[in-house]
Amino acid sequence: MEDSSSKPAKKKVVAVVGGGLVGALNACFFAKRGFDVEVFETREDIRTAKIVKGRSINLALSHRGRSALKHVGMEEKIVSQGIPMHARMIHSLTGKQSPIPYGKKGQYILSVDRANLNKELLSAAETYPNTKLNFDHKLQDWNAETGIMTFVRSDGTKANIEADLIVGCDGAFSAIRKQFLRRSRFNYSQTYIPHGYMELTMPPINGEFAMKPNYLHIWPRNKFMMIALPNLDKTFTCTLFMPFEEFEKITTGDEVITFFQTYFPDAIPLIGVDALKRDYFRLPAQAMVSVKCSPYHIGDKCVLMGDAAHAVVPFYGQGMNAGFEDCIVFDEVMNQFNEDLSAVLPEYTRVRVPDDHAIADLAMYNYVEMRAHVNSKWFLFRKHVDNI
Ligand code: FAD
Repeated sequence: MEDSSSKPAKKKVVAVVGGGLVGALNACFFAKRGFDVEVFETREDIRTAKIVKGRSINLALSHRGRSALKHVGMEEKIVSQGIPMHARMIHSLTGKQSPIPYGKKGQYILSVDRANLNKELLSAAETYPNTKLNFDHKLQDWNAETGIMTFVRSDGTKANIEADLIVGCDGAFSAIRKQFLRRSRFNYSQTYIPHGYMELTMPPINGEFAMKPNYLHIWPRNKFMMIALPNLDKTFTCTLFMPFEEFEKITTGDEVITFFQTYFPDAIPLIGVDALKRDYFRLPAQAMVSVKCSPYHIGDKCVLMGDAAHAVVPFYGQGMNAGFEDCIVFDEVMNQFNEDLSAVLPEYTRVRVPDDHAIADLAMYNYVEMRAHVNSKWFLFRKHVDNI
């Protein structure tokens, strides 16, 4: 007679829905624990795709994000591909540049390429033999009672898949979260801010960065602002944040130049007149949403992480970092409760919701800080230094 106790227990199946930044990292965390991990991503594989659509070109990676990458052995690799930014560099209307350090000497945040980071994390997930990446799988619906998910592929075919745990990492407009909205005692709020954002490229000059590279450049203009983060190819990605109604007032190339002459004159020769006239109209300004919800879980079946749980406005540079930190916190709670999902999921909600809501509030506060308060802080700083 066969001794059933000697049979290895069947590994639990974890379905990570969304293979973006947080989903790809989370897959590494679950795979490291020995679960059978399946990632389902609506897009094709961005490592082989010709065109990669998505949000911001680069992101600021800070301590929280780095700690999570360290847990899965990815910190050094990603840091070596980033550009340290030691301070904010404030550009005045006259073109004067003044640094405001982020912290103590030697402290910095890193500018990293979003697409490259996502590719590296997908490749890292794939190195685990117990992980499978399924691209071209868009979650259409799922059942919170049975845990059965329905995915649709671009050719119209469907697949029904069951998992022991569903991890919703499918971003700010999460399809997983839709089932939460139908349930009693689920709190949810979403707020669109009146500002949109537009990305413009500042090319290198004679093969070198057009501005000092180790800074996060800011042009604070009270009601709106522009920022610029450096890229490895020596370009800067400039992001203009402005109320939609202001974006819409500018309808011709000449009006773009007049606007830049008034508010960002030093940036015109660096971006280039022709590029500004052309690129301003390339894509419409994009909206920014802040999402708060609670709880983050349903029973022992499903949990939300990253933007699916807490999309935040980008002004604190912490959306991805907080999403990465979600993975560490979940991992810690898994240790604490010996992977008993019925205890882990409620505890995760209990410890994580207040912190994520705090990040969302701080990001909303920094929305005003970056475009307006840094002006007065810079003035106070100069007053102190120059004794004026
Ligand atoms: P996403 O990156 O949105 O990934 C979700 C994934 O799920 C995508 O790959 C998507 O294709 C997939 N998906 C969606 N629906 C489905 C479905 N139905 N089925 C299957 N797959 C699906 N954060 C920082 O920390 N620092 C910064 O400097 C920073 N700058 C930012 C600048 C801007 C302009 C913006 C808009 C955001 C910025 N953020 C920043 C925030 C950061 O982009 C997000 O917090 C981060 O991308 C969240 O990662 P995620 O994996 O949770 O979601």
